[in-house]
Amino acid sequence: MSDRFKAIHMKEQPAEERKKNFLEVPCGYTEEEAVLEANRCLQCKNAPCIEGCPVSIDIRSFIGHIQKREFDKAVNKIYEADILPCVTGRVCPQESQCQAKCVLNKKGDAVSIGSLERFVADRDLDRRREALKGEPVKVSGKTKVAVIGSGPAGIACAADLGKYGYDVTIFEAFHKAGGVLVYGIPEFRLPKDIVDVEIRSLVQTGVKLVTNVLTGRSFTIDELMAEGYKAVFVGSGAGLPQFMKLPGENLNNVYSANEFLTRVNLMKAHRYPEYDTPVKYGKNCAVIGGGNVALDVARTALRLGSENVYLIYRRTQEEMPARLEEIRHALEEGIQLMALTNPVAYHGDEAGFLQKIECVKMELGEPDESGRRRPVLKEGSNFIIEADVCVVSIGSTPNPLIAMTSPLIETTKWGTIKVDEKGMTTMPGVFAGGDIVTGAATVITAMGAGRTAAASMHEYLQNKND
Ligand SMILES: Cc1cc2nc3c(=O)[nH]c(=O)nc-3n(C[C@H](O)[C@H](O)[C@H](O)COP(=O)(O)OP(=O)(O)OC[C@H]3O[C@@H](n4cnc5c(N)ncnc54)[C@H](O)[C@@H]3O)c2cc1C
Repeated sequence: MSDRFKAIHMKEQPAEERKKNFLEVPCGYTEEEAVLEANRCLQCKNAPCIEGCPVSIDIRSFIGHIQKREFDKAVNKIYEADILPCVTGRVCPQESQCQAKCVLNKKGDAVSIGSLERFVADRDLDRRREALKGEPVKVSGKTKVAVIGSGPAGIACAADLGKYGYDVTIFEAFHKAGGVLVYGIPEFRLPKDIVDVEIRSLVQTGVKLVTNVLTGRSFTIDELMAEGYKAVFVGSGAGLPQFMKLPGENLNNVYSANEFLTRVNLMKAHRYPEYDTPVKYGKNCAVIGGGNVALDVARTALRLGSENVYLIYRRTQEEMPARLEEIRHALEEGIQLMALTNPVAYHGDEAGFLQKIECVKMELGEPDESGRRRPVLKEGSNFIIEADVCVVSIGSTPNPLIAMTSPLIETTKWGTIKVDEKGMTTMPGVFAGGDIVTGAATVITAMGAGRTAAASMHEYLQNKND
């Protein structure tokens, strides 16, 4: 008998083992565990969990199917709203979304909705791999539409446009499709063979994928339109790293999170020299930031071989924006959190390589516009950390290239693209969604925006053809 108020957690690789490998940390549910966990769900009439889901997955129904061991029906229910459940089951911040609304929270643990989603989605992977052995659907002679960027926003948009019957081409700057799912989130949180199945499944449906093309350099949106694309979706993300503009930031071995993670995840630097790209991780690696990205960097550095990994964060652990599970995993693995600390300068050797980081202590003051207490500098608290590598992980913004080369597309003061409620930009026929519109956000919100835009593009094209 399971305890109604106590969640069944997925088994995990022990911290001492997993910090030496890149394999996934949680091992997934067995069938018995999944059914026991699903049976904790009260099947509430008003299902508040659904309100907490940005794409309104019918959570009550899919868990109801698991209760009856109808696993195929469960996953099909999820596919109605979310085409990447293997991904979202792993990376969605469920504790602040669907699970935050679960009524069981009042007396104990919420139902583990994300783990159940992952269970049924993973169970369906073999069937999907088998389906990939067939020939891809050939699409021709239909209205051509373009999708720029192959992250979650572009994937979701392209999938729906394909279902509406368009001839869809995705144009991706990198040599591999998937956006942050392949170049940002590490293997130990999201195995890349799963992303691979998602991309190949999309191509199987007839969506065309062109990699190694940078829209705004290889061609412009105007040129795409002139080539016969009747509508364009821009899902180019927010991949431009932010720095703090501190003295010494240009020293060797001061990386952006984006570069550090791309070298490892996309270019396989952890397998150098088998792969061409190296990465420097250092004996003492400092990571600046407190979000998911900073934790991904810190845990990656540890796995590469850094002896000490310091997470330098200007507020306290309670204010860290990263997922609670990631913080727990990182601390268990030995990441050293230096809370209420901020860097003020980098110091290097004569050859221009980082040696030390000068930091100051902070304290919490009045709440700022985000509602979190503002970190305030403690005068005269400067101290030095020995670090031979530093990875700045304080956020990223949209790359301005597409807006710069398409003057009709208006942007906000933060560089994000302006869209109306239907996802259309100020350039007729050009839509946008995901991080390029919201700034750095989440996988599920980007997917939701891609789907909204696809529906609007369909409506726009139908009215245009009338
Ligand atoms: C390290 C890291 C960890 C994260 N962890 C989580 C998490 O745990 N949970 C969560 O929900 N979210 C997480 N996020 C955020 C989430 O990944 C993003 O919000 C989401 O990927 C945004 O999707 P997108 O499609 O808008 O953009 P992206 O995923 O950034 O995809 C954009 C794509 O467009 C391509 N592109 C850019 N410019 C051009 C151009 N000019 N021409 C052609 N192609 C172009 C890029 O190469 C990229 O492939 C994380 C982000 C990072 C960086």
